[in-house]
Amino acid sequence: MTGEGTEHVDVLIVGAGISGVGAAYHLTDQCPEKRFVVLEALESFGGTWLTHRYPGIRSDSDLYTFGYRFKPWVGPPIATAEEIRTYMGEVIEENDLARHIRYQHRIDRATWSSADDRWTLEVTRTDTGEQLTFTCGFLWMCQGYYRHAQGYTPEWPGTDAYTGRIVHPQTWPDDLDHVGKKVIVIGSGATAATLVPAIADDCEHVWLLQRSPTYFWADRNANELVDQLRELEVPDEWIHEIARRKVLRDQGAITQLSFDEPEFLREQLLEGVRNHLGPDYDIDTHFSPKYRPWQQRIAFVPNGDLFAGIREGKVTMVTDEIETFTETGIRTRSGEELTADIVITATGFELSVLGDIEFTIDDEPLDFADTVTYRGMMFTGVPNMVWVFGYFRASWTLRADLIADFVCRLLRHMDAKGVTRVVPALRPEDADMPLLPWVDEENFNPNYLMRSGHLLPKRGPKPEWQHTQDYWAEKDALPAADLDDGCLVYD
Ligand SMILES: Cc1cc2nc3c(=O)[nH]c(=O)nc-3n(C[C@H](O)[C@H](O)[C@H](O)COP(=O)(O)OP(=O)(O)OC[C@H]3O[C@@H](n4cnc5c(N)ncnc54)[C@H](O)[C@@H]3O)c2cc1C
Repeated sequence: MTGEGTEHVDVLIVGAGISGVGAAYHLTDQCPEKRFVVLEALESFGGTWLTHRYPGIRSDSDLYTFGYRFKPWVGPPIATAEEIRTYMGEVIEENDLARHIRYQHRIDRATWSSADDRWTLEVTRTDTGEQLTFTCGFLWMCQGYYRHAQGYTPEWPGTDAYTGRIVHPQTWPDDLDHVGKKVIVIGSGATAATLVPAIADDCEHVWLLQRSPTYFWADRNANELVDQLRELEVPDEWIHEIARRKVLRDQGAITQLSFDEPEFLREQLLEGVRNHLGPDYDIDTHFSPKYRPWQQRIAFVPNGDLFAGIREGKVTMVTDEIETFTETGIRTRSGEELTADIVITATGFELSVLGDIEFTIDDEPLDFADTVTYRGMMFTGVPNMVWVFGYFRASWTLRADLIADFVCRLLRHMDAKGVTRVVPALRPEDADMPLLPWVDEENFNPNYLMRSGHLLPKRGPKPEWQHTQDYWAEKDALPAADLDDGCLVYD
């Protein structure tokens, strides 16, 4: 029953990041008769690109594939957060999506009732504190995969004694002045690689303190093919499509190489770094990861900016563990004393399963880890719900677009069948299937997944029961997935 003051929609989209705005576009385009609303906890759209405000924040992926397939990207491949938000703002405006989006609406609880075949969502307006209730037939979870309010900072001894400032890039303070300061950046991933070149010129010195090295790949922030096509005044839509095909073919080849000839690829990547830092630089210590390429994300360094800082002596790499913070900085395990006014902990994020929303299904609390995933987007025992989780080795948005097509097809299929409930369930032939962790550690093992992977749903060995992480297979498999193969049960 819909209570007084409760708003009902056919589809409720959680989050106005790149996935949620894309979902709103596809729903308008492919299922124009569906009433929907997008609820977003933050004050505006953008998600990741609104939350992160540290100097230099930019994409790691090219925007031909991180951009939507339906809206040409006309800038250089790597974009700043601001450019990505401008692009998303245009999508919202061009498609009249603003009227569907409610900002500062945080969803706290979601309750499924099989008697009504609908979700009830308890929502807090973060600006007024007002409590609201929404109901919907279908829940489209576009809440990302990490907690936006706070990043992950490990516990280190001595932080209380440290007299400088400790800052996490995810909650970058507006008043932080790094000019002329000595700064330690802890971490070695994409965030550290982005932030360090952005501040190095202004700082007295920057130390990049990492426990273990990362693979880097440096190149110009340009795409020759795209530049040529632009010169020929080829329409933007064509250039976007051609650039996507080229980027995806090249990335596919590199991904394949990472499995077939990991040593060769490793040598190529290390050679790239050597070309930037010279033959005498200690690549072995600072830039030779212990894992094979692509077991964690390869960080892109546009125009080699990070390496320029190292060459010019503004940035020093330190590969060591933290023994303790001291009053003035950090002492490492090997006894090196680093002195700094500011320590930036680029140590990653906290995995957040389902947007920290408390889920209940017919009065039973849902433990997401007890479910098995249907194609990495739906879950056994969880009706009328899809979660957008992108790719590790390809742009997130590729999958957001593919899942959107799937959801729209599923909604139309349900209408044609005259049903109001769809829930994934293991078939008799799946009963003895071994249940495995969400991600195969051997395949991909970034720290946040190693820390919190146990909170995620299980997967099975068959493609129907896992997130394959393979765009190149899924681009054909998802549109062709048989909605009546028994994995989805309708009512
Ligand atoms: C610094 C950084 C750089 C990255 N760079 C890349 C890259 O270059 N390429 C790539 O492919 N991936 C990248 N990623 C991964 C990135 O998160 C995704 O690509 C993508 O932006 C995720 O989009 P999303 O819309 O699914 O989720 P998000 O961007 O996380 O947005 C989710 C939205 O949902 C809202 N929300 C969450 N919970 C609730 C709730 N309970 N109620 C209401 N609203 C809620 C949040 O406020 C947020 O606005 C990066 C991640 C980070 C942290």
